[in-house]
Amino acid sequence: MGKKNLSQRIENRTVLLNLQMAKYNHLEIESKWQTIWETQKLYQVDLKAAKRPYYNLMMFPYPSAEGLHVGNVFAFTGSDIHARFMKLHGYDVFEPIGFDAFGIHSENFAIKVGKHPNELINNNVINFKENQLKKLGIMYDWSHEVNTTDPSYYKWTQWIFIQLFNAGLAYQKEGYVNWCPSCKTVLANEQTEGGNCERCGREVIQKNLKQWFFKITDYVERLYNNLKIIDWSNIIKKTQENWIGKSAGVEIIFTTVDDKTKIRVFTTRPETIFGATYLVLAPEHPAVDMVTTSENKSLIKKYRDDTIKKMSLNERT
Ligand SMILES: [Zn+2]
Repeated sequence: MGKKNLSQRIENRTVLLNLQMAKYNHLEIESKWQTIWETQKLYQVDLKAAKRPYYNLMMFPYPSAEGLHVGNVFAFTGSDIHARFMKLHGYDVFEPIGFDAFGIHSENFAIKVGKHPNELINNNVINFKENQLKKLGIMYDWSHEVNTTDPSYYKWTQWIFIQLFNAGLAYQKEGYVNWCPSCKTVLANEQTEGGNCERCGREVIQKNLKQWFFKITDYVERLYNNLKIIDWSNIIKKTQENWIGKSAGVEIIFTTVDDKTKIRVFTTRPETIFGATYLVLAPEHPAVDMVTTSENKSLIKKYRDDTIKKMSLNERT
């Protein structure tokens, strides 16, 4: 092939490429189809009339001022692919969306910028919805959008709480919790990384707080058994099992020599009890006060303060 011929072909190909690129205007094409989907109410589902209802629930984002992050988009896209797959298989797929907008983060942010949380949340929701979520082209049924800060929504979370309270499943108790001094919030163990807050990186401290608990221990058996019948990966099932924390064993009551203090100990190995030579109490254990002799009081107090208030989870472990 001659030199001229080759350069002519390269030129032709460049022209062709330029033409193809000019042809695909994603902003125009996507907004055209998204408008058609919306006007045809393509993704709205009448659940009462649906013959093959399929509920495809993804978690609702927390509408932060920064907007959606790429991790949200990654997770939502995967979920939407599954929803579209089920739709093409003839299911009446309901894919709801909403905003989980309550919480200490909204409150802290509002304090930081000096604005009412309600005003901030509304602006953030508009940004999430109009500028981000709708442009992703996910088949959400926006006619069922929920916002957890809407009184018509949270009256039901309050109603559920009252039912739990009346059934004795919600109760208050004082206890030491993981506390992030910068987010000013309680953290679950899963929200800490190496003794630091997962969100801001600040060292987590232990704080004694009176707070609400849900008595999920009543459901340990059911939670545990139901894991066997759901289609989840083994890694996730194992995490759930550890979180449920079911452990079979016995409680043994030890009594101090003066017979005044009783200490309950849980063990999975009661048959080894005859080898037990000592008990270790956590610094926050109420029995520490009972067994401390007067000459050791100040020393123990210092140890407790140092451990409970100053040490991170990691250092204690
Ligand atoms: Zn934090």
